[in-house]
This record gives sequence, C-alpha cells and structure tokens, in this order.
Amino acid sequence: MDHRLLEIIACPVCNGRLVFDKEKQELICKTERLAYPVRDGIPVLLEHEARKLSQDEISR
Ligand SMILES: [Zn+2]
Repeated sequence: MDHRLLEIIACPVCNGRLVFDKEKQELICKTERLAYPVRDGIPVLLEHEARKLSQDEISR
C-alpha cells in the first residue's frame, strides 16, 4: 500500500491515525481496537467491515 495514502487516511470512528499491518494487510486503530481490511491495496474504512482485535494483538 502507498505510504502517502497512510498519511492522509484516518480512522472513521475517532479520526485518529491508523497503523498498517503489512503481514495481515489491515489498518489498525488502537483506540477502538479495530482492524480495517485492505483489499487489493484499497483500505476499507468502514466500521462494520472492521475486525475487533484481541488484547494480545494490541499489546504487540
Ligand atoms: Zn479509531
């Protein structure tokens, strides 16, 4: 995914910054503990599409 894109996109819930997980191809918001999927290089920033992260995944 384009790094410039990562700088301009924000979490749709809290407007905070997102962390890109390259391995899982997910954009992570640590505030809500949500992981937004990235499909074919396109971030899907929809709350209902996001996956809830476990405590384990957050503390890494
Ligand atoms: Zn958020």
